Amino acid sequence: MKLVASAAQMRAVPRSSEFRNGGVSFWFRQTGLPDRRPALPGSADYDVCVVGAGYTGLWTAYYLKKAQPDLRIALLEREFAGFGASGRNGGWLSAHLAGSRERYAAPHGKGGVIALQRAMMAAVDEVIQVAAAEEIDADIVKGGMRVVATNPAQRARLQEEVRFLQEWGYWPEDIYLLEHDHEPRLRVDGTVVAAHSPHAARIQPARLVLGLARTVERLGADIFENTPVTEIRPRDGDQPAAAVTEHGTVRAGHVIVATEAFTASLHGQRARWQPVGSAMIVTEPLSADTWRHIGWEGREVLRDAAHAHVYAQRTADDRIAIGGRGAPYRIRAGSDTNGATQPQAIAELWRALARLFPAASDAPVAHAWSGALGVPRDWCPTVDLDPATGLGWAGGYVDSGVTASNLAGRTLRDLVLDRQSELTRLPWVGRRARGWQPGPLRWIGTQVSQGLLRTADRREAHHVSQTSTLASLAEKLSGR
Ligand SMILES: Cc1cc2nc3c(=O)[nH]c(=O)nc-3n(C[C@H](O)[C@H](O)[C@H](O)COP(=O)(O)OP(=O)(O)OC[C@H]3O[C@@H](n4cnc5c(N)ncnc54)[C@H](O)[C@@H]3O)c2cc1C
Repeated sequence: MKLVASAAQMRAVPRSSEFRNGGVSFWFRQTGLPDRRPALPGSADYDVCVVGAGYTGLWTAYYLKKAQPDLRIALLEREFAGFGASGRNGGWLSAHLAGSRERYAAPHGKGGVIALQRAMMAAVDEVIQVAAAEEIDADIVKGGMRVVATNPAQRARLQEEVRFLQEWGYWPEDIYLLEHDHEPRLRVDGTVVAAHSPHAARIQPARLVLGLARTVERLGADIFENTPVTEIRPRDGDQPAAAVTEHGTVRAGHVIVATEAFTASLHGQRARWQPVGSAMIVTEPLSADTWRHIGWEGREVLRDAAHAHVYAQRTADDRIAIGGRGAPYRIRAGSDTNGATQPQAIAELWRALARLFPAASDAPVAHAWSGALGVPRDWCPTVDLDPATGLGWAGGYVDSGVTASNLAGRTLRDLVLDRQSELTRLPWVGRRARGWQPGPLRWIGTQVSQGLLRTADRREAHHVSQTSTLASLAEKLSGR
């Protein structure tokens, strides 16, 4: 029944003759998939071994090499640098801090949370500055973030969110409501109120990750691709920590696990972060006439204030890329369908595009894809390094990883080099939350809470002027 519904839904979606689903992401279609680097040639000793060459692994290697150029660093990557979420995301380089402020504050006080929020804002500028210094052209435009409410319930929620954030590290100039914006520069249909923050930039994700990989290599780190790690061993007496692959074992003083959503496929790590899927579509370039209707000259990153919200950007070549989080993602070795996504997700995203931008509803969809992000049980991202085992981690960023991975990389540098710093005192460092319950239960829980959020959005769009109680139920169920 669902398949028939999906096929019917898909028929409504205008698709270009070149339409593609998967192929990792549209971002890699723009750059071309990279030639793969050679695999690990055999067992070896390094000072630091990083597992996974996405933003987390690459930023960690980058800052370590900058701090101590003679460190011997190996990155072991199952596919190629950027294959995961880092090469597929929505390109929101934003100061959004995932997780509950109150949870972070419980052991560290409010001051620590505010410091973490300010560090996220600074990290947006840090990424932009490093990209410029290292000549990484990632189509970056710092146009800020725009959030739009399109019904009374969303308006009340957005007003409350702005008030809340202004208590937790955003000053009034860092986020504010555009209350009487009669001539909006970005025209989103049905907007009843919008909020703006200057602390965000649009990026082309694959260009950033490819550029970072080249930079890290130039600094002298070794990246080995086609090298899946099958086991991670903690330090044991005289034996250093190690990452085991079919090509050999890398022994190192520290092993940093930077596999975010894929961590669930590592032995003994199923419960750490739940892989949750997020899907995207991108249109063909829109005509100048359509852009005159929409505006969006500032290239702000955009989201709506729905519970199951969509996020969007205007790309460098004048397309709209729009995405949304969805069902739990089944991560097993070899189960990633190269980023292909379900027809239902494509249809849903296209309906959101047509609702927010009716002028773009005829634009053919050029590409659809998906990927997975890592969600911790308490929804709070973490950075950690255990000096006893030599193992380090960072991730569970939910939807903040483009920026948070940079902050995590600098923090892991300080932890590996045993430096006490402002970064190592931030409240997400060393945080250990309980894990997720076993497979089918958590899968069902996520499905149900996603369904409730969507129903809450439909009710708010048509019937109720306050946040639907179904949404609170979904939040409780998902552990937020
Ligand atoms: C569709 C989508 C949209 C998103 N949009 C945004 C956004 O706009 N803004 C934002 O801040 N965040 C966004 N996110 C989240 C963000 O992209 C991620 O949090 C971030 O990229 C995580 O980076 P990472 O390096 O930790 O993990 P990844 O980029 O997933 O990298 C992990 C790497 O580890 C490799 N690997 C896995 N298993 C092994 C193994 N056994 N051995 C060796 N290597 C292995 C993988 O191949 C992969 O390359 C989005 C995510 C998705 C999927």
